[in-house]
Amino acid sequence: MPIKLMKDCDLAGKTVVIRQDLNVPMKDGAITNDKRIRAAAPTIIQALDKGAGVIVLSHLGRPTEGQYEEAFSLKPVAERLSTLLKRPVALVKTLEEAKAAPGECVLLENIRFCKGEKKNDPDLAQRLADLGDVYVMDAFGAAHRAHSSTEGAIRKAKVACAGPLMAAELDAFAKVLDAPARPLAAVIGGSKVSTKLGLLENLLAKVDILIIGGGIANTFLAAAGHAVGTSLQEADLIPEARKIMDEAKRLNKSLPLPLDVVVAKELAPGQHPTICGIDAVPADAMILDIGPKTVALYTDLLNTAKTVVWNGPVGAFETDPFGAGTKALAQALAASKAFVVVGGGDSVAAVEGYGLADAMGYISTGGGASLELLEGKVLPSVAALEARG
Ligand code: ADP
Ligand code: MG
Repeated sequence: MPIKLMKDCDLAGKTVVIRQDLNVPMKDGAITNDKRIRAAAPTIIQALDKGAGVIVLSHLGRPTEGQYEEAFSLKPVAERLSTLLKRPVALVKTLEEAKAAPGECVLLENIRFCKGEKKNDPDLAQRLADLGDVYVMDAFGAAHRAHSSTEGAIRKAKVACAGPLMAAELDAFAKVLDAPARPLAAVIGGSKVSTKLGLLENLLAKVDILIIGGGIANTFLAAAGHAVGTSLQEADLIPEARKIMDEAKRLNKSLPLPLDVVVAKELAPGQHPTICGIDAVPADAMILDIGPKTVALYTDLLNTAKTVVWNGPVGAFETDPFGAGTKALAQALAASKAFVVVGGGDSVAAVEGYGLADAMGYISTGGGASLELLEGKVLPSVAALEARG
């Protein structure tokens, strides 16, 4: 169903409430990565340029609801936002103080300081919606949670619409899930099959090629009868892995498994890595990355794709020397002509760490929300926006 977009709304002279995801990582009161603020700023600038007064809402971390706690204050975010917007951004503590004249931007303190936010309290939702004339949902990273400031306020607002960041996210995933240019390939990695079952099942029906790596590949390898030593695996999910492989065969889809792997005695920096064929994993070693033959196989397959979605690193990339497979795939996807969407917190961190984010088609700002989209779920805030569309 179509969604109303901020760009089509008349915002001149209006008070616009924008729900953003400014939940940035912090250490000792300082922001360690401001990309969520940078991703949100263009939306605010657009609304200000259209002559609106803007009230920004966001959550930060997991404070105890209903009480102010300095450690979860958005103060550093207000400062950073002010620099990016090149104008003052007042941080206000109460809903009563949240007022913005045209051209002004104010930030309300952590929305999770408000009692009822996480329970999607309808009264709080109404009060948030009533802060302005137009409610803009731009917090893709929080769109999978039905909270007062997301789903709740969207349903209560006089006018509700999606901001440009939210719209870009939904567009990118629609290009993968709804009408992809084919062949469509998915690269699914990460640590545990249990967190990716829904996604594997939903994607298998849609993709032409399903590439599996990372810890989850170990369970598939075990299901295919290979010994995986001391690797991270989920023995109870071997039947599920087998079911997925059988289904792939039945649907005539390509589901390659690693041919060779990088193993070590433990997952720790400075280990001596060994490359071995998939039938030669020592009983006392663990698989921590895909090997070079597998990289070549996967890269060749990915080079045939016109659309690729990537969720989950194919190795324990944070620990040297187990990042080579993930880096090689990232480089191949960066060089590919396919439309590549990367979703998932760790996969995005990997791609950004290699400096390849700009070479991808789309880098999602929401880990949990993108996972739910790939699982085929309708995000509560998206359903609410559609209902208001
Ligand atoms: P994303 O956040 O992109 O969805 P996940 O959270 O599912 O990804 O998984 C990321 C984690 O998986 C990383 O911390 C990585 O170290 C781990 N991982 C990948 N491959 C392996 C492996 N072979 N053994 C252990 N951990 C792995
Ligand atoms: Mg993760």
